[in-house]
Formats: sequence, structure tokens, C-alpha cells
Amino acid sequence: MTGSKTKSPSTPHRQSQGGRDFRNRVKRNYQQSDTLVEHSAPRIGDVSSPPALILKAGREKSLQRHHPWIFSGAIDRIDGAPATGVTLPVRDAEGNCLAWAAYNADSQISARVWSWDEKEIVNADFFRKRIANALAMRSAFLLPLGEVKTDNGIRLIHAESDGLPGLIVDKYNDVLVMQLGSAGPEHWRDTLADILQELCAPVCIFERSDSDGRELEGLFPRSGILRGMLPKQVEVNENGLRFSVDVATGQKTGFYLDQRDNRALIGTLALGKDVLNCFCYTGGFSLNALRGGAKSILSIDSSQEALQLAQRNLQLNGLDSTRAEWLCADVFEALRKLRDQNRKFDLIVLDPPKFAPTAAFAEKAARAYKDINLLGFKLLRPGGLLFTYSCSGGISDDLFQKIIAGAALDAGVSAQIIKKLHAASDHPVLLSFPEGAYLKGLVLRISEM
Ligand code: SAH
Repeated sequence: MTGSKTKSPSTPHRQSQGGRDFRNRVKRNYQQSDTLVEHSAPRIGDVSSPPALILKAGREKSLQRHHPWIFSGAIDRIDGAPATGVTLPVRDAEGNCLAWAAYNADSQISARVWSWDEKEIVNADFFRKRIANALAMRSAFLLPLGEVKTDNGIRLIHAESDGLPGLIVDKYNDVLVMQLGSAGPEHWRDTLADILQELCAPVCIFERSDSDGRELEGLFPRSGILRGMLPKQVEVNENGLRFSVDVATGQKTGFYLDQRDNRALIGTLALGKDVLNCFCYTGGFSLNALRGGAKSILSIDSSQEALQLAQRNLQLNGLDSTRAEWLCADVFEALRKLRDQNRKFDLIVLDPPKFAPTAAFAEKAARAYKDINLLGFKLLRPGGLLFTYSCSGGISDDLFQKIIAGAALDAGVSAQIIKKLHAASDHPVLLSFPEGAYLKGLVLRISEM
């Protein structure tokens, strides 16, 4: 594969940056794999024409259904020699304008749609309207916008699903963290920062454009202050618990806001239970379980920094540290040790990083999900609860459920789905973009077969 580019879609999934995390293994496999689709740049058309993307005949269906991605394979030619990041009209083979999209010569997703309206002008006013619309949705649903509730950590902009492909903005108290995941928002970086400053008046806009996905889009990682000053401590209040957020060097944008509701749910079910929280990061599920009256909680993560912050968070909330045990380890190995020690738990959380960023990784990821879930089932007492998640865009709801069913079977337990879980509602899913529903979770209750 020397000299060739292997590309895959980037979606607003969660990433992982732990020390010995799975991501690194995936990357090696990615490079060694010969089953991945090769990316070849679209054909260059008439360079003297105005910039435009012309689709192959019959390849307009997905655009007509308002799916915002245009893959290189659907393109007949690119006219006008546009630079990456530039907005161009997307035309069908007959020359009809179907959309306006941001072009990226270096990605398998050659363009991402800003608008389906032929008359749209993609400029600062366009972005101001889209951002204002995203803020209005959050306030209409009384999501934690700071002034409404004590909670003050919220995803303000969720990329494709808010009509702004590649743009993620998280708000941690009065600090905004902006993540640019594709060439379109990269091109509009300053405009976007100005509008966010104008509409949200944060004390700081911090850029964390250092996600894995950027590499796949041909973009360099970048991180640092964009506007204002970063306070020494950034703290959010979530479900009445205080969490210190490491905006500059923490994982993703600093905190996993998508699990807000699911963390609260654990709190309501933890009373008197021995809890195991795998992939605990800064202790979100652990603290909710402790406050909910868990008898004990063992939390495991491979990142020492995350565990240190988790313990600081525990102190911030004045919770009983004698009931909490923290383990820096690879979950795959730690679960085996716990099994060999015959440890048992009443409630287990498995919230791993994304094992399958795209469908190309599904098979390998399926083995990893099965492995940890099988071990999880084995560590549960009869009547125990398993909270199991996948944030992999490449694993569908159906496939995830099948993998977990296989794990239960092999573990020799019968399990019922008590509840299906998703990301919190500040992570909406655009109906025409099912990839936006990346986080899926199952609450399972087991009994012996
Ligand atoms: N549940 C967390 C978010 C988990 S994100 C919350 O509510 O905030 C995934 C976590 O898995 C990261 O903290 C990462 O450091 C950790 N991780 C990744 N691979 C791991 C591995 N093999 N073993 C242990 N932890 C791992």
C-alpha cells in the first residue's frame, strides 16, 4: 500500500487517547489490512470552468435523501480546480444543482454538504443562523445551558446532525472547546470562532482539532487557545456532581458529555451494590454510583492521568473514598485476572473507546466487544446488571445486540434487555444521517440458564 491513501469517514464519534489503548492496535491493523477500499482522487475536469463537483449519472440518490456525504466514487469530475475547504455547487450529470458542499481533495469523503438550497450563500450569516439554530434547540429542550440549570456541561454543536459537518463545540461552564474534523469548518475556522464568541460570550474558545479523524481527512492536528484565556481550572456540574475537565490535554474535548443521562441512571440503581466500572476515564459513572450508595466500586482505565483526575473529582464531591478502588490496567487483561480471582459484582459498566471507527473494522471490533462482554457476564452475580456500550460508528445497533447475545450464550447466562440507551439529547441525530447515532447501550439483567 505504499504511497496509496486509505481513507475512512470521520464522524462525531468518541475517540480514545489512553496510554495502552485499543486505538493503537486498530491503527496497526488498519495499516496492515489489505481489505480496505483505496481512495483515489476524483477526476479533474475543466479547470477553466467555475468550481463545481459533477456526480456520475445515477449517483445522486443519497444526496436527494439528504445524506450529507459525497464519496469520491460517486464523482464524475471536479471542475475549476478548487482548493480543499472551498464551498462548491454539487451537480448531477445533467448539470442541475443539488447542494452546496465543502470540498476535500484529500478525503474519501470528497465533499460534505452545507445546504441543499440552490440559492443558499454559504457565508458568515449562514453559519450564524446554523449555530443560533443549534443553540435554540438546546435551550428549547432545557438542556443545561448554564443559566437554566446548575448543570453546565453541554454539546452545543454536534457536527452533521446540526447541519454543520465536521464541527463539534462543547461548552464546559464558560469555556468553549471547538473541534474541527473536516476541511469545511477548517476553512471557516476564524469566522466560526467569531460567531461563537458573539453568540455565547465565553471566557475562552479552546481548539482541540487533534482527533484521529483529521488524519483521515488529510488535516494536521492542532490544539490551543483561539480566543480569550483558559482558566486554570475548568469545572462542570453534571447531575449535581462536580467534575474537573482537562480541556487542554484530556481525551476528546475533555469530557464525555454523551453519557450524561446514562451516568445519572447508574446512580439510581447502585444502592448497596458492588460495582465494576471499566474504561472509567475521569470517573463519571463511578461518582454517580458512589453517590447512589454503591457498597464498593472498582474503576479501571489504562490512562494514569484520567485516573488521577477521577480521584480529584471524587474529592471535589466529598464522596467516601474508602468504597472506591482505582486500577490502572488494560481492561482486557484486568477482567481475566478478576475472573481468575473469582471476584463477583452486582453491576458492571463497559464503556470502551470506539473499536470500529468504520464498518471496515467491524469484524475485529466484534471480537473485542464479545471478549469484554463475555468476561463481564461471567463476573456478574445472578440478577446482576450489565451496562454495555459501543460508540463505534462501524457497529450498528443490530450487530451490537447480536455480539452481546453471542457473549451471553458463551458465558452460559440468560440475559434480558431492560433498557436501550443512547447519547444525551444535546447529541441529536439528523434523521437523514444515521451515522450520527454512534452511541448505543444496553442494560442487561442476567440469570443462570
Ligand atoms: N465512561 C467514561 C468514558 C470512557 S472513554 C466516562 O463516562 O467519562 C474510554 C476510556 O477507555 C478512556 O478513558 C481510555 O483511556 C480508556 N481505555 C482505552 N483502551 C483501554 C484499555 N485497553 N484498557 C483500559 N482502558 C482503556
